[in-house]
This record gives sequence, C-alpha cells and structure tokens, in this order.
Amino acid sequence: MKSQDSDLIAVAEQICHYSSLMWESGFAEANGGNISVRLVNGNFLVTPTNHSKKELVPEDMVISDYKGVQISSANRRVSSEFSTHLAIYRINPETMAVIHAHPPYTCSFACSGNFPSAPLTAEAVIWAENIKVIPYILPGSEELANCILTTGADADVFILKNHGIITFGKSLKEAWFKCEVVEAQSKLYHLAACRSEDPVKLDKMQINKLREIKKIFFNDK
Ligand SMILES: [Zn+2]
Repeated sequence: MKSQDSDLIAVAEQICHYSSLMWESGFAEANGGNISVRLVNGNFLVTPTNHSKKELVPEDMVISDYKGVQISSANRRVSSEFSTHLAIYRINPETMAVIHAHPPYTCSFACSGNFPSAPLTAEAVIWAENIKVIPYILPGSEELANCILTTGADADVFILKNHGIITFGKSLKEAWFKCEVVEAQSKLYHLAACRSEDPVKLDKMQINKLREIKKIFFNDK
C-alpha cells in the first residue's frame, strides 16, 4: 500500500510538471489539454476537467479505473477527453502515459489542408515518424474513441483535425518529446512555406539508417 501511495504522489508531481510545461510552451489555452498516466495498480491518474494547465497541484488529479469510472476526488471531475486516452491504452498496451495538447503550428496545419508528416529531421524519424490524422469528431465522444481504436496501433502520434494532437509513450517524458517534435516540425514546414519554399525531405536511405538507430535507442530505454 505504501509503495502505491508513493507512486501516486510521484506521478501526480510529474503530471503537474508537464502540465505547467504545456501551458508555458503555449500548447494549452484556457482549459485545453489533458494528461493521464497509468499507475502500478492498473488505475490511471488524470488531469481534472475544466482547469487551466498553468497551476495544477498534485491534489487536483483524479483517479479513474480502466473503464473510465472515477474512483477518487469528490470535487474534481476527470478530464472529459479521458475516453480518448483509454482507447490509446487499449490499442497499445505498452503505453504508460498520454498527452493531449493544442500546439499552435500543429493545430494550424490540423485546421487546414493536408498535414505535413514527411520527416524533415532525425528527431522526427526517431520520435514521431508515423503520424495518423483523424477527421474532426466531437472531442471526448465515444465516436472519437472508436475512431482511435480502428485507426491503427502502429501510430506514433494522432493529429485530430480542427482540434489538436495526442501523443503517448512508455513514459510521460516520451509522450512530451513526441509533442515537442511534431510541433517543431510543423513550425519548420510553416516557416519554409512563408518563404515559398518546399523543405527538403529526408530520403529513404537516410530514414532507414535512422530507423536502425531508433531500434537500438528504444530498446535501450
Ligand atoms: Zn483538446
């Protein structure tokens, strides 16, 4: 019981750290964005609904079970988009953390035509090569969760049209890195477009070499 309690406190503090980082990075306006982490006992610690990510404290976090049933915190409600997180935990059982955010360059492309997903940098291949774009569906709806379930377990990242990004990983740090890398790449595409230039994409050989490194890198973690 003691180890579960210390796990809970450590995870809650970690979520607060990444929540404020999300806000400081400009990735979450108003009550936007949410984070969840799987606990050692199989439950989840989740950010509360309708709260700014600016100043969350560990006591704000809500515990939910794998069915999305809230089992703690009488005066906070679990994020309304947690059902989408649960879909990701289900299709990718190694997932330990999920982040949903609204990074501006990423969202700008998610609100326009085709999302530019061809990797431009080594980081993009390592962290977020396989980007799946989901059509606009009401946030937090069962339909969105079902769409995630059927769209593919092989995705690194989901882009939600006219909404934002969902990243996930074996740790909260990994999920955050993916979020930052996709936003950085979206910014590169945007800046190149501002100069009316088409950025040079990595070629097949360059990508394959990076995939080899990725295999070693991820097995190392
Ligand atoms: Zn959102």
